[in-house]
Amino acid sequence: MDMETIAEDEKQAIPEFFEGRPSKTPERYLKIRNYILDQWLKSKPKYLNKTSVRPGLKNCGDVNCIGRIHTYLELIGAINFNCEQAVYNRPKVVDRSKQKEGKDVLEAYQLAQRLQSMRTRKRRVRDIWGNWCDAKDLEGQTYEHLSAEELALRREEMKRQPKPCKISKYKGSFDPFQLIPCRTFGEDVQEPFQVIVCAETLLIMDMHAHVSRGEVIGLLGGTFIEEEKVLKIYAAEPCNSVSTGLQCEMDPVSQTQACDVLSSLGFSVVGWYHSHPSFHPNPSVRDINTQDQFQSYFSRGGAPFIGMIVSPYDPANRSPHSQTTCLLVKESQEPSGPQKLPYRFDFLSSQDIPDWEQTLRRAQWIINKYCQTPGSVQMDRFFRKDSHLTCLEKMLSSLARYLEPLPDEEGDPFLTQIQSLFQSEFIAKQQKEAESLNISSRPGNSDDLLTFDQLMGEEERPQEGGRDSDPDSGSASDSSVQPSDTSVRDKQQHGVTSGLCAVD
Ligand SMILES: [Zn+2]
Repeated sequence: MDMETIAEDEKQAIPEFFEGRPSKTPERYLKIRNYILDQWLKSKPKYLNKTSVRPGLKNCGDVNCIGRIHTYLELIGAINFNCEQAVYNRPKVVDRSKQKEGKDVLEAYQLAQRLQSMRTRKRRVRDIWGNWCDAKDLEGQTYEHLSAEELALRREEMKRQPKPCKISKYKGSFDPFQLIPCRTFGEDVQEPFQVIVCAETLLIMDMHAHVSRGEVIGLLGGTFIEEEKVLKIYAAEPCNSVSTGLQCEMDPVSQTQACDVLSSLGFSVVGWYHSHPSFHPNPSVRDINTQDQFQSYFSRGGAPFIGMIVSPYDPANRSPHSQTTCLLVKESQEPSGPQKLPYRFDFLSSQDIPDWEQTLRRAQWIINKYCQTPGSVQMDRFFRKDSHLTCLEKMLSSLARYLEPLPDEEGDPFLTQIQSLFQSEFIAKQQKEAESLNISSRPGNSDDLLTFDQLMGEEERPQEGGRDSDPDSGSASDSSVQPSDTSVRDKQQHGVTSGLCAVD
């Protein structure tokens, strides 16, 4: 490596120094890089860690950017070559108790990915979902073909399913509304790939989930780096659900549009998301079936397909921060025979800066769609009886968490903008409508709160994974049957007979 020049690869891998920022200049980059190279020559063959180079680089840059340069140099083999510790080829399952290590691995991955994308530009074709695949996999396959196949799958599934009946009659795994706890990857079942999720994705999924008392649904766009076994989720594209907005069947037109948008942005469709508005984000039996069918379709090209579930108002979760599950389904040999079981990923958060324009476009879509629909959440009301946070404040607090991995203050203008958009275009419209109906919508109105809590299913909280649990309360989604006899839920039933949530 020439001490005087900076290669194009370096500029792309560590772009922050080449964007004209006053504090991060190419000269400063060179100074940090050369210092680390110099220290390596002195410590060689002993491993040079990040901590040991920091004291010599006071006032040259923040800890994070020094760390990134260190990682980059390690990745390209300019330092720590042949050292045992310098292993960045494959991330390990991240142990939550070792957050710091996880961040290092993530940084290494982001860099590795940038390098990867610079070096390998394979030419492949896209299928109708916008997924990259080999051209020969697409031969003879049309949209009609897919529909026919899905219809056949549906028919098969409906044959296997018991006749609709009250939930109390369901036994064990036949209850399609039972939430199934996810297993974790480990010794027995190896994690098939690492999932990295960008803030952009989490922001939109969570915002979408917050505004609706019914389940919401959408598609996830990303890329799969086969060589590295890394699935990176860049964006969530919200979709319409069919008819009332209380069920989780994706509107086929909206689904096609979402696929088009994601593919025009250069992403493949690598997953789907939906919300469990007021219950735990474990998948229901029905969700597992849906996920399994998605996977068997999407895995044809060897591409992974994951499911994400966001739960914003689970009464069991006292924090304003929503819970999110990222999962896939795997067949497991159980004593009772083969069974499809959900496995949860400990996904990593990416430090990639969101495409703010796209994120705002999606936010605007969510606001326009839900500001005056009957199933929308009154965002100016308290989210719990014992909380001083309104639903809007609660949502902003949840969103703020996704911005934490980003560089300082990167996300602040976005949050401010979202807050004022919700004030002027969501809450104001809801209040106006309430006034015209002569209903008060001020926070703290006790009658309103009671209704809200009922709708949120506080009294009907499911017992996670319990035998006679009643999990998909407050939602009619995954449903082809009447899940219970409570009045709230009866109102939300639509007798959907499809076995599929989102493929049509
Ligand atoms: Zn579900």
